Amino acid sequence: MALKYHAPRGTSDLVFPESEKVERLVEIACEACALYGYRRVSTPVLESTGLFRRSIGEETDIVTKEMYTFEDSGGESLTLRPEGTAPVVRAYLEAGLRSEGLPQKLYYAGPMFRRERPQAGRFRQFSQVGAEAIGSEDPLLDVEMISLSVAIFDDLGLQRYTLLLNTVGCRACRPAYLEDLTTFLGDVSGRLCDRCRERAKKNPLRVFDCKEERCRETLKNAPVILDAVCSGCGRHFEEVISGLERLGVPFSVDKHLVRGLDYYTRTTFEFKFRDIGAQDTVSAGGRYDYLVEELGGPDTPAVGFSMGVERLVMAMDAQGLDPFGRRRLDVFIAGAPGVDRGRLLELLSRVRSEGVSADTDYMDRGLKAQLKQANRLDARLVVLLGPDEMERGEAVFRDLEESRQWEVPLTEVPARALDFLGGR
Ligand code: ATP
Ligand code: MG
Repeated sequence: MALKYHAPRGTSDLVFPESEKVERLVEIACEACALYGYRRVSTPVLESTGLFRRSIGEETDIVTKEMYTFEDSGGESLTLRPEGTAPVVRAYLEAGLRSEGLPQKLYYAGPMFRRERPQAGRFRQFSQVGAEAIGSEDPLLDVEMISLSVAIFDDLGLQRYTLLLNTVGCRACRPAYLEDLTTFLGDVSGRLCDRCRERAKKNPLRVFDCKEERCRETLKNAPVILDAVCSGCGRHFEEVISGLERLGVPFSVDKHLVRGLDYYTRTTFEFKFRDIGAQDTVSAGGRYDYLVEELGGPDTPAVGFSMGVERLVMAMDAQGLDPFGRRRLDVFIAGAPGVDRGRLLELLSRVRSEGVSADTDYMDRGLKAQLKQANRLDARLVVLLGPDEMERGEAVFRDLEESRQWEVPLTEVPARALDFLGGR
């Protein structure tokens, strides 16, 4: 059969068991956020295009070429969100969360969209779990944000990663540094790629994000912002570092670490994993002390991170981790020919209302084929209903693993099933 439709390039379907593994993984990440005192926020997948142009920055890759932007029939320009921070800040402002007390600690999970070149670890639709703490410039909050990623990795049993840390300064110290950098870039412009020459003019810090070898080589001698930050940023960075040391979180300072979005200030960080290929950054974030103001709110510092779920899965796979196992069906109710299907339906519903997962045959199969189906579903217990047993008010429990079976009063099926499953 030739298929007519395929998932769009750079997107993919998740089917069982992968889908359930990812669901559980996201759940674990969200639970860690809750443990750290963050509250869930859900924003639309669509936003006004201006929100992203304004916050991420006109000259970034995301805004110049990666956004899925379209005009709806009402003439409004909308964009499929490429990231979660700007929408969360917008929601924070719109809901007036400031009046609930600061900091507001929020987390989110969901799909993001960027029209990138698809490759291993890089998709056009991908999922992120992320958190934002809005309203405080306390460096301990940066430390908390970083340790939240560590907590998620720990909960999943992940190892073999590196935390890279840098600071990108503030309004006070960045302009002078950017002048120095621009002068340097002017001197070496012959050795830079076309895009970096462009960046040098419009958004010089971006050059450190270039993946081209000759640019990286040339930039080895570039002035770095860490050496040029003001005393406020310097102190802040020192306190982030001592907090991490206090918690025993290993890191290395990477003076060239800048992020792909313009709103970052002060702390920036990335967690990189070995063994997952070129797209090795699984979690990343930093401070964005001007974004709230930029989006129309009062001057409010903030810090956040986001984690790529697909890359998290790649890291789990690379490290041979699958802590979840297969999800099994608790009970399969098999009806022998001639059984009263109405009563079977009733029993199915009673079992399910005990919180026991249950299924039955909908294909008019014979008993043997039903048992085979129960096996396929990895059912822990089969409940056999036959017309004669039913007449006597009995059902038969069959333990497929032990090849054992015994009779149980019909009225007691849900309770006995619970006992049986609990004893396993
Ligand atoms: P990268 O340098 O890897 O493109 P980025 O700087 O664009 O990352 P962020 O915008 O900070 O990344 O997103 C945070 C995380 O989301 C990344 O570290 C990564 O795990 C994930 N991510 C970003 N873009 C993609 C994508 N196209 N496909 C899959 N995951 C992605
Ligand atoms: Mg990117």
